[in-house]
Amino acid sequence: MSASQGLWGRLWRFVRPHRSKLVGVVSLNLLAAVFDVFSFTLLIPFLNALFEQPQLIPSNKVVSAILGTTIGFLLNPADQMGSLRNVIVLVLLAVTLKNVLVWLSGQIGAQLQEFVVRDLRDALYAHLLRLPMSWFTANKVGQVISRMLTDTTNAKAVVTELVTRSIWSTAQVVSTIAIMFAVSWKLSLASLVVVPLTVLSLQPVLRKLRKGYRRMGNEQGEITSMVQEVVSGIRLIKSYGAEVREEQRFVTRNAAFAQGYVRIGRLALMSGPVTETLGAVMAVAILWFGARLVLVEKSLDGALLVTFLIWVMRLLQPLKQLSQVPAAAQQSLASAERIFDVIDSPTETSADRGTNTAPTFTTSLAFDHVTFAYGDDAPALSDVSFSARKGEVIALVGASGAGKSTLIDLVPRFLEPTSGRITLDGVDLRHITLDALRSLTGIVSQDTVLFNDTVRANVAFGRTKVTQVQLDAAARAANAMSFIQELPEGWDTNLGERGSRLSGGQRQRLAIARALLSDPPILILDEATSALDVESERLVQEAIDRLLEGRTVFVIAHRLATIQHADRILVLERGQLVEQGTHADLLARNGAYARLHAMQFNRGGE
Ligand code: ADP
Repeated sequence: MSASQGLWGRLWRFVRPHRSKLVGVVSLNLLAAVFDVFSFTLLIPFLNALFEQPQLIPSNKVVSAILGTTIGFLLNPADQMGSLRNVIVLVLLAVTLKNVLVWLSGQIGAQLQEFVVRDLRDALYAHLLRLPMSWFTANKVGQVISRMLTDTTNAKAVVTELVTRSIWSTAQVVSTIAIMFAVSWKLSLASLVVVPLTVLSLQPVLRKLRKGYRRMGNEQGEITSMVQEVVSGIRLIKSYGAEVREEQRFVTRNAAFAQGYVRIGRLALMSGPVTETLGAVMAVAILWFGARLVLVEKSLDGALLVTFLIWVMRLLQPLKQLSQVPAAAQQSLASAERIFDVIDSPTETSADRGTNTAPTFTTSLAFDHVTFAYGDDAPALSDVSFSARKGEVIALVGASGAGKSTLIDLVPRFLEPTSGRITLDGVDLRHITLDALRSLTGIVSQDTVLFNDTVRANVAFGRTKVTQVQLDAAARAANAMSFIQELPEGWDTNLGERGSRLSGGQRQRLAIARALLSDPPILILDEATSALDVESERLVQEAIDRLLEGRTVFVIAHRLATIQHADRILVLERGQLVEQGTHADLLARNGAYARLHAMQFNRGGE
């Protein structure tokens, strides 16, 4: 079980900051358990009074010590009814006190578990933000969401089971067993042989359970992925009439998911009945053996045997709960494993070997025999060399899959070259820290992402020292000012998820305003492919022209206007740089570009 010990250790890192709460829960539970046992010990004088025994407190050393010192003065064998009344009042008091303590510890336990899970979620989210691009291409959105929500909640159960219930159960078991041994060690031994047997016999089942739960966690992620796909791809599904096929895919997956839990349930539900059966064996053993002690050996008081039996019966519940802890913990540990899988993946910064925090960009950005391959695939870029002078606008063209996106992802080091190098003023990008490099680069992408926040926050995007004057200037330059002013609350209008309140052209102009505001010397522009109406197109194009001014730009170009005005066009074909030059040069050459141009742009009638 060493793997799970590692997990416990790592979970403990999250519990440690809240350990004072843990101590609080443990001590309150212990105190409550003492009152619990005590309230049942009070049954002994009650029973003796009821059966008109000459002595209300039996001769047993420990019991008489406990009862004699605490309530002895309230008992009088001559006044049975009076003694009974006193005992009943005491039982009520003890039970009330115990329950107040249980409630208090529950409060603290709830805080403890919620705070621990909150910290876990924070850590996961913070880590997620810093994982390298490659991690996101290798992991599905649904899996990520499921780790963030379901797995953190499941991991919480570890804390719940452990803190609120297990500590309470343990306290009950320990205090009950203690008094049982004090009353009769022979009888206690007889009843307790079975306990370790129970725990041991459950072990192989538990190991299987943990594996099962981990598999189910992955399945859950797959299902979340499907839901996410359906929501984001609903247009496509509807337009291709793929509802039935999608539904079938889901039904199959979902059936396997349910079946998996049914299979796990077969194992998980075994621990309860097994414990219960063993409990019954315990009770019978006690009755048989205890009756001998009372009737034959006469070493045990009758009232003590009855109370003893009640103790043992009271033991069953916490013992059963404890026996289920490992099963419940298996699921949580499987979830914890999935969480730590993410937290343990190295972040971009941890892998960053760059030390140059103040790079310059005065002359050029150069690709020097750059090859890049995704994993073991054939290279997506092979031996690409070119140099972009400062201020140059470079258009990248090529068929889909030619490697355009891969090339621009290399500039902010979202990806690192497999071989060759990229230099900024002659300095290898790898020697520049990610922070410094990315403060030089900005992106306006085809898939304009707006966050569920105000227009202001979306344009300022994390910059705190932005004045309204700067915001207005950026919006004006991006041709976004007039529609922003027309929004119900202007700059303070909330855009809703993914900016769904805005048209495509408006979203693009906001993205351009965002880039203008951050004013990066190197700009990556992934032009939108979707057609806009003529007016919108004109507004966007104007905004783009202003954005390009004075910057070094890499643009994945779809608009003819952008391409014609580019200082240089790089033509990519299956990862290779096959041609470069101006629009006129390349057309005159009548090669790859001319073919592409004929195919892509003449069709639109431009
Ligand atoms: P373009 O932007 O020109 O359409 P890309 O740079 O996206 O081309 O893709 C170039 C090649 O790399 C394609 O063959 C594509 O299938 C592959 N590719 C792109 N992204 C990934 C990825 N995350 N993992 C594996 N292969 C990829």
